[in-house]
Amino acid sequence: MTEGPSNPAAQPLWASPAPEQGGTLRPNAAGMSPTALKALMATVGEPAFRATQVFEGLFKHRYTRWSAFTNLPQALRERLEVEVDLTWPEILESHASEDGSTKHVFCLGDGKQIEGVHMPYADRRTLCLSSQVGCAMGCTFCATGMMGIVRNLSAAEIVGQVMAMLNAHDHRAPEPVNLVFMGMGEPMHNLDHVMGAFGILTDPKGLAIPPRRITLSTSGLVSGINRLGTFAKRPRLALSLNATTDDYRSRIMPVNRVWNLEALAQALQAFPLENGERITLEYVLLKGVTDSLEDAHRLIRFARRFPSKINLIPFNAHEGAGFEPPTEERIHELGRLLSEAGLTLSVRRSRGQDVAGACGQLVREGRKKAEPR
Ligand code: SAH
Ligand code: SF4
Repeated sequence: MTEGPSNPAAQPLWASPAPEQGGTLRPNAAGMSPTALKALMATVGEPAFRATQVFEGLFKHRYTRWSAFTNLPQALRERLEVEVDLTWPEILESHASEDGSTKHVFCLGDGKQIEGVHMPYADRRTLCLSSQVGCAMGCTFCATGMMGIVRNLSAAEIVGQVMAMLNAHDHRAPEPVNLVFMGMGEPMHNLDHVMGAFGILTDPKGLAIPPRRITLSTSGLVSGINRLGTFAKRPRLALSLNATTDDYRSRIMPVNRVWNLEALAQALQAFPLENGERITLEYVLLKGVTDSLEDAHRLIRFARRFPSKINLIPFNAHEGAGFEPPTEERIHELGRLLSEAGLTLSVRRSRGQDVAGACGQLVREGRKKAEPR
């Protein structure tokens, strides 16, 4: 397995989809960093401060049409209207769950669909974002994995999920927002565009979301983990560990056949953490597969090798998966063992289950393989 199809020369961060994909080949200002906008303004003979006006218009005032940018000269507005797209993903459907979270289905320029989830909490809101249409990793317990990979999302399509969900739920700055790349897709397979979106979302002139409030979750691509560690500013890292022996992990997560548990532990030990930063270990509990007491002891040993916190995720059932959630007693027992070992622990009572918006339940557009296992 390689690090994936992320050749920036082939697909600029700001590109609109190709015409055959329903796009226009015009640049899309929605996915442009301030630097890219400056370059754009230079090509139309405008000074650099116009780029700041556009960026602030998009992310502070949240304008969605060029005609709304009344601070720009009219001639420039009219030119941008013709030459530069301003396209965000559109919300097609919204499904509100009884627990307060809402699953949104987005329609992209080429008609493909992705999903994002808005989860309000007392002191913040958390948005779960997709990084790809589908996923290539083929984890056997995950509905997205059963779709296969369709394509990567552009930076605009990633940022657009945030903008659309904040607007739909009437978010006003400075209320804190957490972002987690835990929707559809393997973010390490689309790291260029994920980091392009990260740069835009954290930019002080825009939404200014603090990097520590953004978490990238990976199934364990060591090449991607190593590369993420080289960025001066980057999201926090979460690893979907999900099993404690190579035998079981390889059965449920094919990526383990390329980078096994020891390779992962070494990559995480070498990952450059900031003061107080910890790596989240997500651990999906599959009854009779990954939820034994021996698993808990092995998980403790793994987690002690680097600063970590553990997130237990009882399996969210979906059609055709062939797994079951653990019993409540077992969840408590495992939780007790991990806490007694001094580990920081949370149990993710997945939100949005009744609207299929919980982890691993996000799936769009057919292509479901009939027999996943
Ligand atoms: N591809 C990335 C991020 C998206 S998946 C990754 O795998 O980390 C987000 C999380 O949902 C992962 O921790 C994954 O293990 C978990 N998950 C997938 N399917 C699930 C299911 N059916 N029930 C509970 N968690 C699931
Ligand atoms: Fe892809 Fe993550 Fe699902 Fe695995 S768990 S198939 S990596 S989305």
